Amino acid sequence: MVSPLSRSNQTERRFKGSTLKTILIANRGEIALRIQRACRLLGYRIVQVYSEADKDSLAVRLADQAVCIGKAAASASYLNYAAILGAAKLTGADGVHPGYGFLSERAEFVDLVEAEGLVFIGPTAQHIRLMGEKSKAREMAQKASVPTVPGSPSILESVHEAKSIANDIGYPVLLKATAGGGGRGMRVVKEEAELASAFSEAGSEAQLAFGDGSLYLEKYLTDPQHIEVQVLCDGQKSISLGERDCSTQRRRQKVIEEGPSPALSAKVREELLESARRLCSAINYRNAGTVEYVVKGDQFYFMEMNTRIQVEHPVTEAISGVDLVARQLEIAFRGYGSLNDLPENVASRGHAIECRINAEDPQNNFMPSPGRIESLQFPGGPWVRVDSHIFPGYVIPPFYDSMVAKIICWAETRDLAIARSVSALNELSIKGIKTNVDFLRRVLRSEVFRDGAMHTQYVERELTTLL
Ligand code: ADP
Ligand code: ADP
Ligand code: MG
Repeated sequence: MVSPLSRSNQTERRFKGSTLKTILIANRGEIALRIQRACRLLGYRIVQVYSEADKDSLAVRLADQAVCIGKAAASASYLNYAAILGAAKLTGADGVHPGYGFLSERAEFVDLVEAEGLVFIGPTAQHIRLMGEKSKAREMAQKASVPTVPGSPSILESVHEAKSIANDIGYPVLLKATAGGGGRGMRVVKEEAELASAFSEAGSEAQLAFGDGSLYLEKYLTDPQHIEVQVLCDGQKSISLGERDCSTQRRRQKVIEEGPSPALSAKVREELLESARRLCSAINYRNAGTVEYVVKGDQFYFMEMNTRIQVEHPVTEAISGVDLVARQLEIAFRGYGSLNDLPENVASRGHAIECRINAEDPQNNFMPSPGRIESLQFPGGPWVRVDSHIFPGYVIPPFYDSMVAKIICWAETRDLAIARSVSALNELSIKGIKTNVDFLRRVLRSEVFRDGAMHTQYVERELTTLL
C-alpha cells in the first residue's frame, strides 16, 4: 500500500522522513474536524477526546481513537487538564492540538503538556503569558514600536488612576479586562461621572468570568474598523499572510469576516502587515497567531494578539492557499525552517468571505437555539467551503458555543464573493433549530456591507433593518 506520506503534495513532501505522529485533539465541533483533516493530510493518527454530551459527534466517529474525558460541562471535560493528559498518556499521543477557546491560551496547560514530554501545537507557554494578558501585550507592542491606542501604561491600580488617565486622553474611554476574551470584559465609559461604578462593576465581572479582575483603559475610538493580521512564525522567521476585516460585529463578537479588507489603502496595508511581523519577530513568536488592530482612517493601533488558530482562519487559507493548520503541526514538530518555502509577506489572491452560522434566534435577542437538526442541506459549487460538524439527526447540545457551521466563499472580486456568499446561504437549509442565516443574508445585502463601509458598530446601529 502506498503510504499517505508518499503522495506528491508539497506539504506532505516536506513531512517526509518524520515519523508518524499521534495527535490528541483537545476540542470539539467544527474545529476538531478541521484539525482532523490536517492530521489526515499528513498521515497522522488521530485521538479525539470528548465529553459525554459529544459521544455521538462526527469528530468521535471519524477519529482513529476516541476517549471520553468527562461530563458535559466544559469544566469537567474540555477544560479538565488531568483527564486530557491522562488520555494523551493512555493513547501514546505525541502532540496536543487545543484548537480555539478552551485550553488554547492557558499557559499552565502548556507547561503540563510539556512536562509530560508531549508537544503543544501552538506557541510556548512564555508567549501565551506575554501576549495573553492584554495589558502586557500592549506594553510589548509599544516596545516593538507598534502604535497602540492611547491609554493606561499598564494595569489600573485604582479608580483614581483611571480618572486621571481618562482626563488626559479624553472621554469616551474603554475599560478592558486584561484577561478578557470572546468580546467580553469591556465597558465603555462616556463621562467621568460613570467611571467609578463602571470600574468596580467591570472589575468584579472580570473576576467572575476570567478569574482575574485586573483592568486597563484605552481611548474608545468611535466607529473604527477591526482589522487583523494572520501570522505564522517558526521561532526565527515571522511571516504575514494578509489581513482580515472583522468589522462586521454584534456586541463585539464577529459575525462575518473577510479578506482583504476593503478599508485599507495599499500603503497602510503594507505598514500594518509589516508591524505585525515586527512584533512577532521582537518576541521570537512561534506557531500561528493573529495580531488584531483597530483602524481609523490611515491610523492603526494594536489591540491584542491571539496566540492560537482563530475561528476565521479559512478566510486566509482561501486567499493565500496556505493550509494554516497543517503548518501549525509542521512548526510544532520541526521548528526552524518550517516556513522556508514561503515569502515573509504572502500575497493575497482574490477575495474571501466567511459567514458564521449560529444556532440562535435573531428575533429573540439572538438567544441560543440548541436542539435536533431535522433536515440539512449544505451549499456546494466552486470555491464554497463548508466547515461544520452537524448532520441530519444531530442534536446540538446546549452546553457549548452556538456556532454550527462556517461558510467560506472565495471569488476573484469582492462583489463576486458577496454574490457567491448570498447564493450559498440561499442553498443552505437547516431545519429543526433557529439560525441566523436570514440575518446574515440581510447583512451581506445591506448598503454598508456592499459599499465596504463597515465599522464595528454598524450592525448594532442598523439592527432593526437587519432583523
Ligand atoms: P476569534 O477571533 O477566533 O473568533 P474569539 O475571541 O471570538 O476569537 O474567540 C474564539 C472562541 O474562544 C469563542 O468561542 C470565544 O467564546 C472563546 N474565547 C476566547 N477567549 C476567551 C476567554 N478568555 N474566555 C472564554 N472564552 C473565550
Ligand atoms: P477580545 O479579547 O474580547 O477579542 P478585543 O480587545 O479584541 O477583545 O476587542 C474586541 C472588540 O472590541 C474589537 O473587535 C472592537 O470592536 C472593540 N474594541 C476594542 N478596543 C477598542 C477601542 N479602543 N476602541 C473602540 N473599539 C474597541
Ligand atoms: Mg479580539
